Parts: sequence; C-alpha cells; structure tokens
Amino acid sequence: MSSEGHILMQENVDKVLKKEVERRRTFGIISHPDAGKTTLTEKLLLYGGAIQMAGTVKSRKANRHATSDWMAMEQERGISVTTSVMKFNYRDYEINLLDTPGHQDFSEDTYRVLTAVDSALMVIDCAKGVENQTKKLMEVCRMRDTPIITFINKMDREGIDPFELLADIEETLHIECAPLSWPIGMGSDFKGTYNIHKGELHLFSATHGGSIQKGEVIKDIHSPRLDELLGSQAKQLREELELLEGAGYPFDEERYLAGKQTPVFFGSAINNFGVQEMLNSFIQLAPCPSPRATTTRDVSPLENEFSAFAFKIQANMDPAHRDRIAFMRICSGKFTRGMKVRHPRTGKEFQIANATIFMAQDRTGVEEAWPGDIIGVHNHGTIKIGDTFTSSKEELKFTGIPNFAPEHFRRVILKDPLKSKQLNKGLHQLAEEGAVQLFKPLGNNDNILGAVGLLQFEVIMSRLKDEYSVEALYEPVEFHTARWLTSESNKELDGIKKRYPRFVALDGDENLTFLAPSQWRLQQAEEEWPKISFQKTREHQ
Ligand code: GDP
Repeated sequence: MSSEGHILMQENVDKVLKKEVERRRTFGIISHPDAGKTTLTEKLLLYGGAIQMAGTVKSRKANRHATSDWMAMEQERGISVTTSVMKFNYRDYEINLLDTPGHQDFSEDTYRVLTAVDSALMVIDCAKGVENQTKKLMEVCRMRDTPIITFINKMDREGIDPFELLADIEETLHIECAPLSWPIGMGSDFKGTYNIHKGELHLFSATHGGSIQKGEVIKDIHSPRLDELLGSQAKQLREELELLEGAGYPFDEERYLAGKQTPVFFGSAINNFGVQEMLNSFIQLAPCPSPRATTTRDVSPLENEFSAFAFKIQANMDPAHRDRIAFMRICSGKFTRGMKVRHPRTGKEFQIANATIFMAQDRTGVEEAWPGDIIGVHNHGTIKIGDTFTSSKEELKFTGIPNFAPEHFRRVILKDPLKSKQLNKGLHQLAEEGAVQLFKPLGNNDNILGAVGLLQFEVIMSRLKDEYSVEALYEPVEFHTARWLTSESNKELDGIKKRYPRFVALDGDENLTFLAPSQWRLQQAEEEWPKISFQKTREHQ
C-alpha cells in the first residue's frame, strides 16, 4: 500500500521533489482533553528520536519562557496557548505533527490547523467513548474528507466494551470502523493486542518512563502458546475475532483515503503499548501531500513552482516588537532560504529570509523545505490567514482555510472613552491574527467579540492592555452562534438587515453576519429568508 496513486499523474516530475513529497506525512491529532494526546505525542516523538525522555512535551509546556503577561497567564495554568508544529523523522519518513490546542486553549486555530494537514489521528479514551470536542473536530475534518486513523487509548484501564466503542464511533461520527488491531481484555485483564492486519499477537507488560515496549510476538492465533499465556482469554480472543469477521468492516484503503472509513488501533499511550504498531501502519497508510484546491484549479505538490498558504498567525512572544509569525503550509515545489515569492493578495514580492521550522525542542533556520512542511515567516502584519504565496506569476488562491462560526460572545466596553481609536486598532489587529473575530452590529456601536474557545477573551484583554494601552472590560451578550449571510437577492438581505439591526453585523472584513441569540431564532430566520444562505464557515478573500 502506498499513497503514490494519490498524486496526480504529471509529466516531467522532478525526481527529488517526488521523493521528498512521498516521504512526508503531515497530520494533526483530534481528541477531547485528557484522552491522552500529549502522552501519545511524547511517545511518537520518542520513536522519532526527537526527544530522549518521555515527559519533555509536558515540561516544555511548563518551563517555557514567559515574556509577556498573556504568556505568564498561560504558564500559570500550565497550558499552551500557542500551536506548535513538531517535525520528526521515523524510518525514511519526515513527519510533521501539527499540535491542535485542546484544553482551555481550544480556539479557532485548533480548527484551522486541520485545514493544513493531510490526515488526522483520532485519540479516544476507552472509558469515555466519543466526546464533544472530538465531534467538533471531526466536523472540520469532514469538510475536506480528511483521512482519519483511530487510536483507542487507556486500555490498561477499565473501559467500554470494544464492540460498543466501535458502534459508538460509527453512530456518533458517521464513519465506518475497520479495526486493524484487537485488544485482549482491558483494565487489569489487559493482556495485549492482536494485529489483525499482520496476524501477530503483541503481549503487554506495563512499563513506565520512556522505554520502548517490545512485547512477545506470536504468529499463529491457534498456537497452544496462546492458551498458555492467556488462559481462558485465548478462547475469548478467538471468539471475538470470529465475531468481528462477520460484523466488522474489512479495511478498505480507498474508503480510508476518502474519509469514509477509519482504521482502528487499541493501546495504552502511557505504557507505550500499541503506539509503534499504530505508527508503523500510519506511515504506510496515511497519505503524503496531495493536490490542493485553489479558486481556479488543483495544484499538485509535484509542480516545480513553489506555492504555500498561511493558516495561522501568531504574535511574537515579545510585545516590544510587534511582529508576527505566519505559519505557512507548503503545497508545491521546493522552498529555499531567501527565496523571493509573490503575494497575490497585495501583488507584492516578498523575500522569505528568516523562515523557521518548528522542531520538537528548538527552532532551527530552514535551508530548504518541501510540500507538506510548515514554515514560520516573520512579518509585521502584512500576512493574513488564508493568504497564498507563489514563485510563479499565476494568480493562485488556495481555498479551504475558512473562518469558523464562533461559539462564545462578549461585548467590549472601553473604560476610557478617549481611547476608542486605540481600541479599534487593537481589536482589528488582534482579530486579524485569527484567534477571535470582531463583529459590529448594524444597529448600534457595539464591539462584539466572538471566539471558539473562552480563553481567547482573556488573552485579548491582557494584550489590549499590554500592547495598545487600552483598559477595557467585557459584558455578557445574548448571542449563541453566528452565520455568514450571502444571497443573490439584495431584497432579502435588506429585509433581514431591517428586521434584525441588533443581530445582523459586519465582521472584521465587512461581511454580513447573523448573530443568533438561539438555535431557534436562527432556524426561524433561515425559514423566513429562504434565498439567503446562512454559512457556518467563511472563506478568506
Ligand atoms: P491530553 O489532554 O489529551 O493531552 O491528555 P494527556 O496526555 O495529558 O493525558 C491525560 C491523563 O491521562 C494523564 O494523567 C495521563 O497520564 C493519562 N493517560 C494517558 N495515556 C494513558 C494510558 O494509556 N493509560 C492510563 N491509565 N492513563 C493514561
């Protein structure tokens, strides 16, 4: 199995480029907080040799240098506000793991990171089944039919019956499950996993720290050695596998690549059990960078001209320098340091002199990078989320890097009315970074902030104070969700504007938005104006 078939056939392909593309895997983890994402990330990095000891990812969270108040806030809570990109090698593969912030730092960035990956790894706690945040992230994956591999974690703890877990995933997430490994017992009875794909048994022995789990491998499921080792559980395993053959979905590569089926693995991240098994399958099954849609055509990663898009903007850690890092995903061609690229939105040329690639522990200057890689580019606000960069003169604009409808809202109240200019500037600039959105209702002068995660509100308040010297406070507002309004019928748009001047607002880019006080009111408006489309996401212009 390989993902070569996934790449468009193309003449005159540069051999080096093709090789670099084929050995890249760029993915993100989707999970609910506490399912084990951090623990699993540590183990993956350990296999990649990127870190020597487990625990580094966590301690990296805790020890990081605080250079501004909001960084201090993050440190205090022991959580990470920033999305990091971790790059590691495994065998011949170059793996880019894009962190999807998940606790209180859950934000629109978490969603948008998923627009820059080629596949996802879903981590599920075996005692909890599918949880809310996983459901939301899955919806984002579905927008691009992102292929997903599932890792059911914490099998060393008592959990839900594996058959029920699969049924839960299938029903809640509407995706077929094809187990490639099967657990032998769980909790204190957890004995290991049977690799259905390879017909191998891996026996579990709890280990601590960072050592790599080997376990005993038994090739034949009917071997008496199995009964010797597992006792009555051997019979149960054989029965379950038989049941699975009748009831489960056999693995189908095409359905996986189309996002319709998820291969499932069982294990215990903290004990490093089942992780390598999953990783070995991941590099084989997960797609390498594939063609990306633009407004005019699909761009193949094998095209020689460089192209990339920005999916995240992060303020510099040091507020004294108001520069920002734009995270760009390379879509085609080769990137070399100092390269001149075009920025079609502004029509300007841009020299990328100081690109950064984010390693597990430190940042190193990039000499060259390839499709699937992420580079960080310093700028002073010239780069916006969704911007395309190319080395050719072609007017390209990548699509599929949208704004997502916020789920929390606040009204911003200025303490000193003379500072309204600074407030506007601050709110606009901070909204441009993409962690919050700014809305101005047509019928009043309110500044309404919308965010996907609540922590963003605190971050914005302390940055307004630090960077713009503006003291403000929040008031609660009645809004529940937002939808972007588009229609061919200006009459209907005028109708809704007149009817709901408090609910219809302009966002930071002057797009009409409906701020709905309830799901019911949203539904009512949708019924009342059938010629208006109410969209949950909005593409950047
Ligand atoms: P995250 O919030 O998804 O990043 O989750 P963490 O990796 O921080 O894990 C949450 C908690 O679950 C921590 O206390 C971990 O030690 C624990 N945990 C992670 N993996 C396992 C596992 O395989 N078995 C058990 N028993 N606990 C685990």
